[in-house]
Amino acid sequence: MSASPIENLIKSLACLPGLGPRSARRAALYLIKKKETALYNLAQALDAVQESLVVCPECGNIDTSNPCSVCSDPKRDDSLLCVVEEVADLWALDRSRLFSGRFHVLGGRLSALDGITPDDLTIESLVERVRSGKIKEVVLAMNATLEGQTTAHYITDRLENYPVRITQLAHGLPVGGELDYLDDGTLAQALRARRPVS
Ligand SMILES: [Zn+2]
Repeated sequence: MSASPIENLIKSLACLPGLGPRSARRAALYLIKKKETALYNLAQALDAVQESLVVCPECGNIDTSNPCSVCSDPKRDDSLLCVVEEVADLWALDRSRLFSGRFHVLGGRLSALDGITPDDLTIESLVERVRSGKIKEVVLAMNATLEGQTTAHYITDRLENYPVRITQLAHGLPVGGELDYLDDGTLAQALRARRPVS
C-alpha cells in the first residue's frame, strides 16, 4: 500500500534542512489545521516557484526571471563584481544591501578531496565577463575555509593579466563577538587583518 498524502507531506517536510521528523509532523499538522490560509498559500507559492524557476545564464543566481532580478536591475554598479561560491552566499550578501554591484556564482569551490576542478565551476564565464565587461573591481567573497581560499588564489591567478582590481572580504571578529569565544583561525585572521587606529 502506498503512503497517504499526509504521510508524504510529512516525509517531504522532514527532508528540509533544519527539520527532523518531529518538527515535520508539527509543521504538517499546522498546515492541515490552517488549510484555507497557510496550506493554500504554501501550495500556491511552491507551484509558482516550480513553474518559473530558472538559473540566470549571466550570473548563476536562481530566480523566477531571466536574467535574474540582480542582473536586470539598472541601478546596480556594472564596474563592481562580487564572486561567491553558492547562490545562498549571493542571497546573504544581497540581503545585507551593503553591496551595490553585480554577482557571479561559481557553483562551488575547488576541492582536490572531492575532485572539484576549475572545469566544474563557472570560472571560464567569470574570466569572460571580466574580459568583455566594464568591470573595474572583482570582490572575492569566498568562504574562510581552505578550499574557499584555494579557489580565491586560483581566480586571482586567472585574472592576473586583466586590468581589474582584485579584493577579498576581510575575515575577522564577528560583530558582538568576544575574543574568548573565538576559534584560533578567526582570531589569527583578525590579528593579520589589523589596521591602524584612526
Ligand atoms: Zn543574474
